[in-house]
Amino acid sequence: MSFAASRLAAVKASASAWVSQAAQDARARGEDVIDLGIGEPDFDTPDHIKEAAHQAAKAGDTKYPPTGGTLRMRRAVADKLRRENGLEHTPDEVIVSNGAKQVLFNAFMATLEPGDEVLLCAPYFGQYKDIVAILGGVTVALPCPASEGFLLGPEALRAAITPRTRWLLLNQPSNPSGAVYSDADVLALGAVLADHPRVLVLSDEIYEHILFDGRVFRSFAALCPDLKDRTLTVNGVSKAYAMTGWRVGYGAGPKDLIAAMTKVQSQISSGVCSIAQAAAAAALEGPQDDVKRFREAFEARRDLVVRRVADIPGLTLDPPGGAFYAFIGCAALIGATRPDGRTLKDDNDVTAWLLEDAGVAAVPGSAYDLSPFFRISTAAAETVLADAMDRIAAAVSELK
Ligand code: PLP
Repeated sequence: MSFAASRLAAVKASASAWVSQAAQDARARGEDVIDLGIGEPDFDTPDHIKEAAHQAAKAGDTKYPPTGGTLRMRRAVADKLRRENGLEHTPDEVIVSNGAKQVLFNAFMATLEPGDEVLLCAPYFGQYKDIVAILGGVTVALPCPASEGFLLGPEALRAAITPRTRWLLLNQPSNPSGAVYSDADVLALGAVLADHPRVLVLSDEIYEHILFDGRVFRSFAALCPDLKDRTLTVNGVSKAYAMTGWRVGYGAGPKDLIAAMTKVQSQISSGVCSIAQAAAAAALEGPQDDVKRFREAFEARRDLVVRRVADIPGLTLDPPGGAFYAFIGCAALIGATRPDGRTLKDDNDVTAWLLEDAGVAAVPGSAYDLSPFFRISTAAAETVLADAMDRIAAAVSELK
């Protein structure tokens, strides 16, 4: 007997969670596995943030919080957006949710009619597709190949927009490719969108602080102010402050959109844990030194992985501009034969072989709708990454 409703048929479990589970299973069998599947900072949440949570609990901040977020947190978000992103939003144009993921869910639930289209730039964070599928929308993947720097160009965008297009989803720095748009690239996309007033823009900026080579982050809505009244800026504390477990994300956009999203949230989860919101507000309001420290560590790790991949025949990687992933091209490995005689037919086979022969858990490009690649998380210590790269190099050298 099946318990699942038909709308779940198109929905897959998160690929990185699945890969991490496979890594754990292998470890439980006694295998020595390095898990580079999950996208999570390996740092601990800074102490002053934990202390703020502690104080909130002790002060009795333990009642149901307002659905859309505490006033303190929504003000902290509005201040952050003004200070760091040059964006003006009032607290009633901000929603606080259980991670950026719930902001996405709320937004699509609040706006999509059955059959409405959401444009995604492939490779993309796989859950975008599954959330839209749960809600009866249709995702349209726009291929953004490595030769284009994994970036969407204005002509491809123009060609993809139909009367059913409801959202363009942009994510930069990108998970999984690390791609970052130049200001000119964003302005060119904005010019296309100006001709299509029904299309909303969701700008997922969750990796904004993890940006390399001296790049400066620019929010989509700040670069394209004419589109601000149909842009939802999505962000959260998970990646910048090593707070994945606290589950606090936020969105800022037009008041009516935020009100509709808050209505959705009121029926799902109510307001985010009051103590986690107090901690997140402290993260946004407090000293930002740890954000800088994390960024520097991620850049050094990126450099290490880029250097090491360059020495492995058959693998390709242009330096990612941000985020903490390496989306490694493996086209030259497709068709190769493993020592056990099996052939690598696609990037799913490549990641299965990496797990079995190299003891490295990675996510196949198919999970991000662009193949043949595999993604490793670079949110691990340099010694761990160096070990993983040694193992990958050794396994590649044994392919025929
Ligand atoms: N957006 C992107 C691009 C991500 O990579 C992730 C997490 O991996 C999220 C959103 C969700 O983040 P959160 O932990 O805030 O739900």
